Amino acid sequence: MSLLGQEVTVLGAGVAGLAVARALAMRGAQVTVLEQAEAITEVGAGLQISPNGMAVMQALALGDRLAAKSTRAEAVELKDGRDGSRVLRMDLARLRPGQGWHFLHRADLIDILAQGAREVGVTIRLLQKVDRIDLTGPRPRAITAQGSAFDAHLMIGADGLHSPMRHALLGRTAPFFTHQVAWRTVIPNDPADPAVAEVHMGAGRHLVSYPLRGGTLRNIVAVEERRRWVEEGWSLRDDPMELRLAFEELGPRVRGWLDRAEDVWLWGLFRHEVAPVWHRVVPEGAVALMGDAAHPTLPFLAQGANMALEDAWSLVRSLAETDSLAAGLAAYQAARQPRCARIVAAANANARNYHLSGVTRGVAHAALRLSGLVAPGLALKKFDWLYGFDVTA
Ligand SMILES: Cc1cc2nc3c(=O)[nH]c(=O)nc-3n(C[C@H](O)[C@H](O)[C@H](O)COP(=O)(O)OP(=O)(O)OC[C@H]3O[C@@H](n4cnc5c(N)ncnc54)[C@H](O)[C@@H]3O)c2cc1C
Repeated sequence: MSLLGQEVTVLGAGVAGLAVARALAMRGAQVTVLEQAEAITEVGAGLQISPNGMAVMQALALGDRLAAKSTRAEAVELKDGRDGSRVLRMDLARLRPGQGWHFLHRADLIDILAQGAREVGVTIRLLQKVDRIDLTGPRPRAITAQGSAFDAHLMIGADGLHSPMRHALLGRTAPFFTHQVAWRTVIPNDPADPAVAEVHMGAGRHLVSYPLRGGTLRNIVAVEERRRWVEEGWSLRDDPMELRLAFEELGPRVRGWLDRAEDVWLWGLFRHEVAPVWHRVVPEGAVALMGDAAHPTLPFLAQGANMALEDAWSLVRSLAETDSLAAGLAAYQAARQPRCARIVAAANANARNYHLSGVTRGVAHAALRLSGLVAPGLALKKFDWLYGFDVTA
């Protein structure tokens, strides 16, 4: 199906929405993005773009800009949280040539994608909070909190965790609290630190950290198991002392980082079902879901943004290679749903593996140390299905 001149409205100017907007406009579609925020400003912390996400950035002709703004990662290291000793090192130089792994600030990725979208003619309308989606008329319609209505031939819900589009397609679904919370913060850093993502594993908690922006900053995400419920969202601030107390039994390197934490955000980790339905056709149009709106994930595999990028490419290619919206969107769902479900399940499993305690922990760490000695590439090879996949191939 030719996308030339097709009117598309995308809900949400996050990673998914901006990437799909650029991909559509590169094929000649007329794209409008509706974003609730008043500006595309600096929000969020670090993200890891693995080779599967980088492949999409390259296909969008934005790979060089990402490489220029990011830190090329050398390795991922699992560490015993109590003393900081290395349990396993996954050397990212073992990835196939050209498959870069990058650390970057979420704001920098959004900036690159927003500029990339505008350059190919995408209109981004800010301060447009979509309140509900009406699928009862001939075309899909988005109604904003201010009462404006936007109709489109194709409307894409890239509207994140609390997606009105997901609600319109699936009704209210209740996620369940995992009894885990995550803090995130960014601290000043020594630029001489190596470009390594460190995972410090303690009983019932773990902390992931890596350098950003030429090593001048350090991203920290710290996860703790707890009974008390915490809201799911990106904007709840917390007292840095709470974070320090939760990780006071970890080694001096971690404690030193946390002493420097000033601005700290807390979010509750919820498990959501991967959407069983990703699209619907109406008499004169269709709607589709993508990114967190379709498959919110726990942050334990760093794949939220990478899946969103893959979705963007897959959606546009599926439309271009079929002869109708219905066929294109069905092909998109068939391509993406099983892979996203597998990634979300793998992220869920990582939480358990990182938080072991007692004898189980000793045995698991010993086994990992041994496998690192006898077959150093094995841990990364096990994830070839994930990082080695190129949705643009
Ligand atoms: C502020 C913020 C901070 C984040 N920080 C982290 C982090 O530190 N670590 C991490 O792992 N992940 C973080 N994420 C999530 C991560 O970026 C996403 O998992 C991933 O990039 C998938 O992107 P997405 O585009 O599907 O969703 P998102 O990146 O969440 O983008 C959704 C977009 O839709 C907009 N939107 C939502 N509802 C509406 C509405 N009703 N009307 C109009 N627009 C709407 C949002 O403002 C947002 O711009 C953050 C997301 C946000 C929005």
